Amino acid sequence: NKQISLAKRPQGLPNLEDFNFKEGVFPTPVSGEVVVKTLYLSVDPYMRGRMQDAKSYVAPYQLNEVITGGVIGEVVESRSTEFQEGDVVIGMLGWQEYSVASAAELRRIDPNLAPISTHLGVLGMPGLTAYLGLLEIGKPKEGETVVVSGAAGAVGSIVGQIAKLHGARVVGIAGTEEKIDYLLNELGFDAAVNYKTTTNLRHDLKDACPNGVDVYFDNVGGEVSDAVYPLLNTFARIPQCGAISSYNKEGKDVGPRIQSYLIKSSALVQGFVVSNYASQFGEAARQLGKWLAEGNLKYEETIVEGFENIPNAFLGLFEGSNLGKMLVKVAEP
Ligand code: NDP
Repeated sequence: NKQISLAKRPQGLPNLEDFNFKEGVFPTPVSGEVVVKTLYLSVDPYMRGRMQDAKSYVAPYQLNEVITGGVIGEVVESRSTEFQEGDVVIGMLGWQEYSVASAAELRRIDPNLAPISTHLGVLGMPGLTAYLGLLEIGKPKEGETVVVSGAAGAVGSIVGQIAKLHGARVVGIAGTEEKIDYLLNELGFDAAVNYKTTTNLRHDLKDACPNGVDVYFDNVGGEVSDAVYPLLNTFARIPQCGAISSYNKEGKDVGPRIQSYLIKSSALVQGFVVSNYASQFGEAARQLGKWLAEGNLKYEETIVEGFENIPNAFLGLFEGSNLGKMLVKVAEP
């Protein structure tokens, strides 16, 4: 049973030496437990925070313990009355080929509804983050301008599409030409700006937002956000979802120098963790599933194959090597 643990706490950008591959024992379930074979495993930016020994809304990973995260797997042995062999399940499990879990830690997913991997992306935590952050905090209205950073990623790509479904003008910010092309030509964004190749991001954003910015759904923070703030309209809303540009920063970060723009625009900024809205997950997932089935929501997945490539897939998040949700395919069902 191959496993991956945290070998040391990363300094700055993580690298392969921060991870340790080991061979664990094959798990034996006791009554009420099942053995789950890992099929798909999610790598997410928030995991970078858990690699630090710092207090946050999730506990830090412990050194030399198997790293955990979202996993979709197949029940291969059951000592629970709630699950049978062959059931496809989702839960917070380890970066390992086989996990043991109690029935309460798992939720069954219907493989006939949508491809099972979507429960880690558009129909899972990132999709819920997009839906609830945008609609509960951003509250886009018809004709308003919504700017989203990290626009071609798991959360951002869904934010932009939901904003379009609400009649907004949508502008995305992303880091490769392939992503810009995807936003404009596949997802129907009204404009998109490549923050890595532009010589003047603030200028390009101003061109892309002739009526200013009413909602800024921020996934990245840093200099990208510095360029958005001057465009805030009166009573703009900012769902502060992520700040990936700072996750690998060593030492003190500078900025953002947002205050004068907040005062001028009376804008509302609200940070959030998707679990704040746990009571609305059911309703949000139903609406996302409906849009998906109707063809009103598209999604992309970047699927890295093979257990040994899990750390590389995680590191790829910080290089922007994913379009849509970054997943690792560990085994066939
Ligand atoms: P993504 O699928 O968007 O993957 C990360 C992307 O971030 C990369 O593809 C890359 O795209 C971009 N990126 C990486 N480094 C930088 C940088 N220095 N500056 C700007 N962009 C960068 O990840 P998710 O959709 O899963 O998550 C997006 C954000 O939302 C993250 O900040 C995450 O922490 C946060 N989040 C927050 C939640 C909450 O409850 N508040 C829940 C889920 C996610 P590019 O090529 O465009 O640079």
